[in-house]
Amino acid sequence: MDLLIWIDGNLVPKQDAKISVYDHGLLYGDGVFEGIRAYSGRVFEKKAHIQRLYDSARAIRLTIPYAQEELSQALDETLAANKMRDAYIRLVVTRGTGYLGISPVNCARPTVFIIADTIQMYPEEMYRHGMAIITASTIRNHPNSLSPKIKSLNYLNNILAKWEAVDAGVPEAVMLNHLGYVCECTGDNIFIVKGGDLITPAEEAGILVGVTRQVVINLAQAADIPVRQINLTRYDLYTADECFLTGTGAEIIAVTSIDKRPIGPGKVGPLTRQLAEAFHRKVREG
Ligand code: PMP
Repeated sequence: MDLLIWIDGNLVPKQDAKISVYDHGLLYGDGVFEGIRAYSGRVFEKKAHIQRLYDSARAIRLTIPYAQEELSQALDETLAANKMRDAYIRLVVTRGTGYLGISPVNCARPTVFIIADTIQMYPEEMYRHGMAIITASTIRNHPNSLSPKIKSLNYLNNILAKWEAVDAGVPEAVMLNHLGYVCECTGDNIFIVKGGDLITPAEEAGILVGVTRQVVINLAQAADIPVRQINLTRYDLYTADECFLTGTGAEIIAVTSIDKRPIGPGKVGPLTRQLAEAFHRKVREG
């Protein structure tokens, strides 16, 4: 069966789910989105994702033409229509169809669509044994230019960093900020473990404030693991006991080497394992 895509209020077969070439989401990356997972028929952290979408939209002066509750129901509808229990959902709001030229004022109505599909971010093997990453020379967007807190359709910054990973033969790259501190990877947040503490860059570093990041922080705190949100340098990464990445698509994945430096003993660490197990329990139990 062909996938059914929710687009502007209608469920249509994938081959008919089309948007205009005049849509500013396509012409200028003018729009916002969410990547969301459903586990066992339930949308995971739905409220947090919807809230972030509306916050991203507000930050770019985009008025989503649906109430939060309506979009929340549309997510469930799309899952149900595709009879999916486990899915990766893409919820996108673009500025809509306008004229050529960047002005958003002629875009009459935002385009909204929801795709429920599947995703495998990294090979299974890497989830078991961890992966190698590099630091990209491409820095994260300056927060006063395009705040990384906005989950916008403009991913070129991250895509350029991803090219560096591809060129180095690794699946991900760490991006630093304009001050040289660690931000996050191209599609995931980053954590290290040092001396029993769980450490991740603070929001102020200029990161996308990940939903999975917050879930992991909560799980760690519930397990009495001290959590610190501070500035990290590459030195801190290289000398960490453990390192892992979090994201809706990635879930939790261990990093065992950065810029050719093995992290700890170069194996998936015990705290990473503990948190990954707690995470998988949580997503199943809701
Ligand atoms: N940072 C970036 C740049 C991302 O694209 C993502 C994936 N959305 C994340 C972090 C992780 O965020 P979340 O846990 O909300 O998926």
